[in-house]
Amino acid sequence: MISLFDTHAHLTDKAFNDDLEKTVSGAQDSGVARILNVCDDVNNPGRFKELLEKYSFIYGAAGIHPHELENADLKKVPPMLELKKVVALGEIGLDYHYLRAGHEENEKKRQQEFFRAQLKMSKDAGLPVIIHCREAWDDTLKIVAEGNIGRGVFHCFSGGENELNKCLELGFYISFAGPITYPKAADLRKIVEITPLDRMLIETDCPYLAPQQHRGKRNEPAFIKHTAEKVAEIRKISLEEVSQITFRNACRIFNLVVKYIP
Ligand SMILES: [Zn+2]
Repeated sequence: MISLFDTHAHLTDKAFNDDLEKTVSGAQDSGVARILNVCDDVNNPGRFKELLEKYSFIYGAAGIHPHELENADLKKVPPMLELKKVVALGEIGLDYHYLRAGHEENEKKRQQEFFRAQLKMSKDAGLPVIIHCREAWDDTLKIVAEGNIGRGVFHCFSGGENELNKCLELGFYISFAGPITYPKAADLRKIVEITPLDRMLIETDCPYLAPQQHRGKRNEPAFIKHTAEKVAEIRKISLEEVSQITFRNACRIFNLVVKYIP
């Protein structure tokens, strides 16, 4: 039996409203020993808190996602960081994919403000950050460097070699999700090949981005094994080694005691 660590899941998404318990037990049956659940609705943290209380092996991250800025209130973030099982601030960052026509510059500015403010909060709280970056590499890397933030994860990594090197120089971990299994993702697999193993994490980002075997359907933590298998294939190491390395890395970055059970 292997122990996998899904470092990015959204189990409080409505996609899991009807079968959350079954989803969690299915993950355990597939070797998922720990999950980091990301709360991106800090205005309504009730179900997130319940989840962390109910399952000892589920940890949390909380922050304001760049898509959630409409009713966002930065004051809601610090109390979330004080919850016992919240081990990271996130996901935060910049996403320039869906900027509204005619409002591009204003929206970018607002995203950057929230990003900077939350990076500062992560420093004050002594927590690593989980960064979401889509079509905004230059600004994201610049802001992280300016903030002198050296601890965190670039989640669902989608950059090229240049971006990879900059993230590594900044001291960050690189997390890979289902897209590394997609037939057309040869460039991304190249990145998996050259990322130092001691900086690599794996995640589902469920309910989004199901691996190829379940593509088009709802993703869930149990499917992390397909991503782990793909990493093993690319790096020519065993699934057991991938699970052990990425599990230890996750414990290191999120400050958890390593209790890997082979
Ligand atoms: Zn996410």
